[in-house]
Amino acid sequence: MVSRVIPVDPFDLVIFGGTGDLAIGKILPALFRRWRAGQIPEDARVIGAARADLDDDSYRALVAGALAPEVGAGGDLDGFLGILEYRRIDVGEAAGWPDLAARLAGSGDRVQAFYFSVAPGLYGALAERLQAHGLAGAGTRVVVEKPFGSDLASARTLNRDLAAHFDEGQIYRIDHYLGKETVQNLMAVRFGNMLFEPLWNSQYVDHIQITVAETVGVGGRGAYYDGAGAMRDMVQNHLMQLLCLIAMEPPARFAPDELRDEKLKVIRALDPVLPHHIVRGQYEQEGDGYRAAVGNPRSRTESYIALKTHISNWRWAGTPFYLRTGKRLVARSSVINVMFKDAPHSIFGAEAGRHANVLSIRLQPNEGITLKVTIKEPGPGGMRLVDVPLDMSFAEALAAEDHDRPDAYERLIMDVIRGNQTLFMRGDEVEAAWAWTDPIIAGWEARGDVPKPYDNGSTGPGDAELLMQRDGRRWQGIKP
Ligand code: NAD
Repeated sequence: MVSRVIPVDPFDLVIFGGTGDLAIGKILPALFRRWRAGQIPEDARVIGAARADLDDDSYRALVAGALAPEVGAGGDLDGFLGILEYRRIDVGEAAGWPDLAARLAGSGDRVQAFYFSVAPGLYGALAERLQAHGLAGAGTRVVVEKPFGSDLASARTLNRDLAAHFDEGQIYRIDHYLGKETVQNLMAVRFGNMLFEPLWNSQYVDHIQITVAETVGVGGRGAYYDGAGAMRDMVQNHLMQLLCLIAMEPPARFAPDELRDEKLKVIRALDPVLPHHIVRGQYEQEGDGYRAAVGNPRSRTESYIALKTHISNWRWAGTPFYLRTGKRLVARSSVINVMFKDAPHSIFGAEAGRHANVLSIRLQPNEGITLKVTIKEPGPGGMRLVDVPLDMSFAEALAAEDHDRPDAYERLIMDVIRGNQTLFMRGDEVEAAWAWTDPIIAGWEARGDVPKPYDNGSTGPGDAELLMQRDGRRWQGIKP
C-alpha cells in the first residue's frame, strides 16, 4: 500500500528551546523525516531559538550530529540543514526579539508557528513577547507540550496566560499519544465499521483495561518526576485521552471541536475514584530503586498506579474501566483491552469452559489490533473450544511503505502546519482532566498514603492484582 505524501504550504516554524532534549531528540528528527518524505517545501524555514550562544552554522552542526542515525537511512541532510536557522533569544531579555521579528516580517500569508519547547513557567512570558513584537497575529499558531499544569489551578493559569494573546483556535496542546497511528485507527475501527459499535456498551462489554507499561525508570527527569508521579505524568493526560477515545459517543463529524466536545463529555462523566480502588507503587531494587533514582530516600511519589473508575452515562453505567501505568515494569507495552462479556449460555456444556472475546488495541510496540474469537479446537475428541486471535498487525498489513508512515511527532507537527486541531487537546478538556485528578491526589495526600514497593521488572505491586481479583477479574499480561 503506497502512502501518499501531500506537501504542506510553505511555513515558518520557530522552536523556542531549540537546543533542548525535546527539540533535538524529537521535533527536529520528526521534521527531517517529513523533509525526506517530500512533505516540507524547500522555502520553509525552521528557526531554533534558545539561550545558547550559537550561530546558524554551529546550530546546523549540532542538529546534523543528532540526525546522524537517521541519515543512515538516506535522505537529503544538507537540504534540510539549509532550511534551519538559529537565533539567540532569552525569553526574559529584550535582545534578539527585534531581529526575529524582522526575519519573520513580510512573509505574507505563510503559516507561522511557534513551538514552546521550554518549561511551562515560560509560556506566559513567551506569549507576551510574541505579542509585543507583532508576532501574535490571527494567523499564528503556538504549540505547547505536557505537562500542561500540575493541577487545575496551574492549568487555568497557563490557559489564561495563553488566552491573553491567542485564541483557542491558535493553541495546539500536544499529547503525542493522540498522534499514534493506532489511536486514529481506534476511531476508524469504532466508527468506520458496523461490527463493533452496537456492542460498544455496558450490555456487552464487561470491562475495559488500559495499560501503559514502561521498562525505563525516571532517567534524568528525577527532580521533575518526583514532584509529579505517575498520576500527573501519565494518567491525567495520556491514559485519560485513550479512555476518552474508547468511551466517547460518535461525533457527528470527524472535526476538531466535534471530537473534543465528545471527549470532554466523557471526562465530565467520570466518577470520583474511591480510595480502595487505587493502588500506588514504587519500584525497588538494591541501589537502583526509585528513591535512589530521584535522590529522595523518603519519597512518597508513585512510579506506578492502577485504579478503577466508572463513567456515569447511559452507555457505560456498570462497566468498570481499569487503568494502570508504571515504570520499570516487565515489558514496554501500551494496550487497550476491551473485554467482552461471556456468551449468556454455553450450548457446549460446562467442559467447554467460559470464553469471552477480547479486542486488543496495541499502541506500542507492534501497533495493531487483535480480536480474540472462540473456535473449536481442531481434531477429534468433541467440542473443545479455544480462543484464537484474528490479528491485524499494521506492520504486516501496510508493510510496503512502512518506513514512510509518519510517527506521532511527525503527524502532529504537520497537523499544526495544516491547521488541524483534531488531535490536540482543548483547554477545557485539560482543565476537566485536572478537576478529576486533583481530588484523587488530595485524597491520598490527606491519608498519608505510602506507595507499595514492587520489584524492578515485575508487573507492579501485588495489590494491583487484588484490585482485579476482588471483582472476579484479572489483568491481561504485559507482553512486549
Ligand atoms: P531541556 O531542559 O532539555 O531544554 C530546554 C530548552 O529551553 C533549551 O533549549 C534552553 O536553552 C531553553 N531555555 C531555557 N530557558 C530559556 C529562556 N529563559 N529563554 C529561552 N530559552 C530558554 O528541556 P526539554 O526536555 O527539551 O523540554 C522542553 C519542554 O518540553 C518542557 O516543558 C518539558 O516538560 C516538555 N517535554 C519534554 C519531553 C522530552 O522528551 N524531553 C517530552 C514531553 C514534554
